[in-house]
Amino acid sequence: MQSKSLPQLDDLYREIILDHYRSPHGREPVSRIDYQADGMNPLCGDEIKISLQVDKNKIEKVHVEGHGCSISVASGSMLADILKDKSLEEAKRLSNYMKNVMHGESNGKDYDIGDLEALEGVKKFPVRIKCALLPWTTLEEALAGHEHIEIS
Ligand code: ZN
Repeated sequence: MQSKSLPQLDDLYREIILDHYRSPHGREPVSRIDYQADGMNPLCGDEIKISLQVDKNKIEKVHVEGHGCSISVASGSMLADILKDKSLEEAKRLSNYMKNVMHGESNGKDYDIGDLEALEGVKKFPVRIKCALLPWTTLEEALAGHEHIEIS
């Protein structure tokens, strides 16, 4: 599979992003959809659908569908990893945190975000920030109960 215009990133981060892109996590459907939203980034052609199975405020399972560039797919895959077993409040906090990191308002070091750290380098490429944040804005829409979002 060819990666679509992956910007110049550190080799380590690049590898992490490509690993997630080649075999994205969270592709197994949930057995019950409690929260769901679609998102798209027309600038790049990224599309995503996020479904959450939640029990007693805990995210039991995350299903991420969609396609797009390596950055949006990797970000969605990382989102699926990190949200598992988190509470809805933690999920909201994480999405705020990712927005801050991508907009340079936080350095990504004061919260353990695992592989998501690899996306931090993308903030040097303003056009791609939307790719990295698409899963997170879609997650917020899902949690807010909206069905469809188009970012621009
Ligand atoms: Zn993209």
